[in-house]
Amino acid sequence: MKINFIDLQAQYQEYKAEIDKEVSEVFTSAGFIGGPKLDSFEKNIAAYTGVKHAIGCSSGTDALLLALMALDIKAGDEVITTPFTFIATAEVIAFLGAKPVFVDIDEKTYNIDTSKIEDLITANTKAIIPVSLYGQCADMNEINAIADRHNITVIEDACQSFGAEYKGKKSCALSHIGCTSFFPSKPLGAYGDGGAIFTDNDELAAKMRMLLNHGQNERYKHKYIGINGRLDAVQAAILDVKLRHFDKEVKLRQEIGQRYSLLLSGANVVTPHVEADRTSVYAQYSVRVKDRASMVAKLSEKSIPTAVHYPMPLHLQEAFAYLGYKAGDFPVSEAVSNEIMSLPMSPYLTDEQQDFIVEAIKG
Ligand SMILES: *Cc1c(COP(=O)(O)O)cnc(C)c1O
Repeated sequence: MKINFIDLQAQYQEYKAEIDKEVSEVFTSAGFIGGPKLDSFEKNIAAYTGVKHAIGCSSGTDALLLALMALDIKAGDEVITTPFTFIATAEVIAFLGAKPVFVDIDEKTYNIDTSKIEDLITANTKAIIPVSLYGQCADMNEINAIADRHNITVIEDACQSFGAEYKGKKSCALSHIGCTSFFPSKPLGAYGDGGAIFTDNDELAAKMRMLLNHGQNERYKHKYIGINGRLDAVQAAILDVKLRHFDKEVKLRQEIGQRYSLLLSGANVVTPHVEADRTSVYAQYSVRVKDRASMVAKLSEKSIPTAVHYPMPLHLQEAFAYLGYKAGDFPVSEAVSNEIMSLPMSPYLTDEQQDFIVEAIKG
């Protein structure tokens, strides 16, 4: 049986007529940067998330970078985040010369352990970046309350959680700034790189808009040192089409995720734990297994693709050696890194394929 880890070909075939039409309109107009498709997409994702300002940008990484730049994060500042995430979360902190300060994760949700944040806040702490890993938000109310007590900013790394809900509110709308990614394999994926930044704050929004366009406030007048961090019109046009179908896809992802968990209960794996006050969009469906290498090999023999998100926590990466962390500093992150593996997940995974995967795991 042929099983794709995610099925982007099937998705394109389904939306082909709409996508081709929108993209050819961009080609015909020859307006490739900015323009009506970008305006429309920004308006639609602002409405979708319930945030006042949604700003398209070049990637999830640049969304995080622009958020930190807007807050003037610089050398000497500290930003708290988790070591169990994609490198971009901490990379942008270090890129600006600030110091990533890691906090271990919660054993059940794999998100930042909120009970450990406050001890690490110092006079230099400027922000907290909780990551909504695998498509489920962290305990954002608790994190916002901690941040308020210390007058610091919360930036949600929502790169995996666009469409997820926390206490009835959408991911990206849960803190001062939300950042998401439209990398092709994310729940809402472009046909190339893309991202977006969300905020209700007018000043931050205006500043981030300038920063992603070389700090310009009018043409060739530069108020800030910025970057080229724009989302282009072709990607915005494609994303705007996919957004029309997104609720249906999220529903399918959730049904498939829940079906995996049901079928795998009693098997020798730990299935994802979703808290009662939130939903997951299952950017990944990840399980813990004691002997991952042999499970991966067994599934691979049956041509079932798997992936590991993520095999090495950030505090043990060579790039962050200068921070002085060592093995044993974040025991939960380290244990989960050794045991976690992601199974095929897309709205197009059939019951038959899923049964085949589950049988292979149980076998
Ligand atoms: C994908 C991802 C990013 C980076 O997004 P890009 O669009 O690839 O730059 C950042 N953080 C997390 C948690 C991610 O999953």
